[in-house]
Amino acid sequence: MSDRGILIVVSGFAGSGKGTVMERLLSGYDNYALSISATTRAPRDGEVDGRHYFFVDTEKFERMIEEGELLEYARYVSNYYGTPKSYVEKELSRGKDVILEIETKGALSVKERFPDTLLLFIMPPDADEIYNRLKKRGTESEEVIRARMSKAGEEAKLIERYDYLITNDDLDDCVSKVHSIIQAAHLSVSRSSDRIRAMQEQLKKYS
Ligand code: 5GP
Repeated sequence: MSDRGILIVVSGFAGSGKGTVMERLLSGYDNYALSISATTRAPRDGEVDGRHYFFVDTEKFERMIEEGELLEYARYVSNYYGTPKSYVEKELSRGKDVILEIETKGALSVKERFPDTLLLFIMPPDADEIYNRLKKRGTESEEVIRARMSKAGEEAKLIERYDYLITNDDLDDCVSKVHSIIQAAHLSVSRSSDRIRAMQEQLKKYS
């Protein structure tokens, strides 16, 4: 079996609860590594630099783009977001399953560059729930909430290009489904070429 981990992209509308799903996945199982993105967005209350994001200014972000430090990046509601490349490569080669929690455009560009990336989309049970969760979070103005709702409409058009869709109705159930999908991906034939070749070799002596 290959020792390299799987690259997993998790997307979901703002307010889908995907952040909480990721926290639970990381605290519940030990084979995951969550990539920390760089962003030009201002930190929300309680967000810590280097833990939730690397908060950088536009100049620094554009330098990271120019120097090829990002695996992918996108603009989302007037800010830059991007995935630092080195952490992802290091963790994958250590055998960790690396999760990128990123929006749809970045997700699809990762899939294009690395076709065996597993794309998961997490969705709340209905659209009103997205609005209500954003309101309840209380971290954004009504204007930003409206912009994020409109962005959700655009992102919904790309869901069919994902591999799996998980509804986040019940947190435990959602976390367990995400984990099961990743475990199943490890057993896919396309990721098992080493095991297949080993068996083919061993069988040679019987033929
Ligand atoms: P938020 O501002 O709510 O933390 O994130 C806004 C959106 O940006 C979310 O959909 C989040 O998944 C996405 N995002 C976070 N980091 C990255 C990244 O590195 N690249 C891309 N393409 N999207 C990201």
